[in-house]
Amino acid sequence: MFNLAGKVALVTGGNGGIGLGMARGLARAGAVVVIAGRNAEKSREAAHALRAQGARADAIEADVTDEGEVERLFAQVGERHGALHILVNNAGTTVRKPAHEMSLDEWRHVMDVNLTSAFLCCRSAHGWLRRQGGKVINIGSMMSIFGAPYAPSYGASKGGIVQFTRSIATAWAADGIQANAVLPGWIDTDLTRGAREQVAGLNERVLARTPAGRWGAPDDLAGIAVFLASPASDFVTGTAIPVDGGYSIT
Ligand code: NDP
Repeated sequence: MFNLAGKVALVTGGNGGIGLGMARGLARAGAVVVIAGRNAEKSREAAHALRAQGARADAIEADVTDEGEVERLFAQVGERHGALHILVNNAGTTVRKPAHEMSLDEWRHVMDVNLTSAFLCCRSAHGWLRRQGGKVINIGSMMSIFGAPYAPSYGASKGGIVQFTRSIATAWAADGIQANAVLPGWIDTDLTRGAREQVAGLNERVLARTPAGRWGAPDDLAGIAVFLASPASDFVTGTAIPVDGGYSIT
């Protein structure tokens, strides 16, 4: 039910943090994993580390905010692997400022990396995914649910991810494609290490509010990735599933 042997998965931003945690899960379940990111060296190293654990893994350099680069990325996946069954839209970034201090360029950058990239990748993936049924996993956030004063563009992009996921889930159900969003809680990665330093008291607030009593680790996202990529979730679509140690219920 959770076997991904013979499946090809593309993970954007899979060279570190949550993306790499999910990539490790997909690889352990038997998928060929293709990592896409701008930092070619970091992506090569991540693919190498997966191969060292016995997985089949590949890395392709791409900026997923660029329409042409996204088209080239999917063409390369097709050339090298002949198929695509699983797309994980995980690439993400943030700018921590209240709306009244944010420039238009900063707003657009976060929207492009977090939301428009998912649209571009899904559009390019659709032709592949519909051939034998496919899975889309879009990465939202607690900011898909809650507001934060320092996250106007981040929150808008992550709220948008949930609605975008619902749109493609309805449009592509007849193609045998399931699309779901994952909403991670506070996970210890490069992205949140910056937040811990910039936002006073954040670490203590996260620990106090999270029933599990700890920050998440990237590998905490491996299981949900395997579930949503596998036949186990064939009747699950359009959902937004928190993986947050209970943060969103308190
Ligand atoms: P990281 O900063 O560790 O990873 C971000 C990844 O995105 C990197 O692999 C980076 O690769 C890639 N990326 C950024 N911009 C681009 C781009 N233009 N094109 C291609 N790849 C890009 O952060 P996390 O692992 O924490 O975040 C992963 C996802 O999880 C994000 O969507 C984030 O919003 C979300 N998330 C994280 C939470 C957390 O607590 N950590 C909580 C909720 C959601 P490269 O630099 O090589 O391009």
